[in-house]
Amino acid sequence: MTEFPAGMVWLVGAGPGDPDLLTRKAERLIAAATVVFHDALVGRGVLALIPQGVRTVSVGKRAGRHSQDQATIGRLIVAAARAGERVVRLKGGDPAIFGRATEELDACRGAGVPVAICPGVTAASAAAASLGRSLTLRGLARKLVFATAHVRAGEPLDLDWQALADPGATLAIYMGKAAASEVSGQLLAHGLPGDTPVAVVENASLPAERRLITRLDLLPLAVRSCAGSGPAILLIGPALEASPAARIEYGRAAEDERKPAEAR
Ligand code: SAH
Repeated sequence: MTEFPAGMVWLVGAGPGDPDLLTRKAERLIAAATVVFHDALVGRGVLALIPQGVRTVSVGKRAGRHSQDQATIGRLIVAAARAGERVVRLKGGDPAIFGRATEELDACRGAGVPVAICPGVTAASAAAASLGRSLTLRGLARKLVFATAHVRAGEPLDLDWQALADPGATLAIYMGKAAASEVSGQLLAHGLPGDTPVAVVENASLPAERRLITRLDLLPLAVRSCAGSGPAILLIGPALEASPAARIEYGRAAEDERKPAEAR
């Protein structure tokens, strides 16, 4: 297989969990692999596509473990490639978005191991699809910001809140559930209105998916009362409101209600 010779590493986007959201290329690479290293977020349905007998190694990192784990993963994939394996490194969502892809690309390139990326559907896209909403909105949300609210234990969230508190942007905040209170508080303090629409989507694309639409000032309460233990993404901004067409509909309905019954 010319796209996947022995001794090569593919960083493959596994998407948000639903195997139907894999690219055809990802499926082909998984079928051709002789070893698969995957992280904790890769969906069970995706793992089920790995052919019987193919060595499957979970290298899932959990928050709080040392970054040395990343070096270990680099060594493992390089060693497998050098032993002549076809190595698939399966990563949740898109490998190039908060996926530590650079460290693994560098490990391979530094060792002279050929490496390439197969993109995947990122959590923000999957969440927007589940919500039936667009991440951008003509004239209102001209900018889409991917940010992470992940911090090491004991460290403050070091984000440029002034830049993030942009009423003309959609913020897609990865790893943001634990920091929901701080995200809400800082964005409000930096000028975003309290009624800015926010969506929280947990386990996007999976049977255990939960969706919640709330407003920025109510976000901490909403997350406390509804969030489970799955991965969740926060989407913040005017694009998350009902579509403009729907808003016009609501407007008409409200006007109609003010008219006397016989005029309706
Ligand atoms: N590379 C991944 C992101 C990895 S960071 C991607 O492109 O999607 C891990 C974070 O991604 C989680 O904390 C969560 O914020 C988000 N995430 C991943 N899978 C998700 C899913 N199925 N539903 C909601 N959020 C998800």
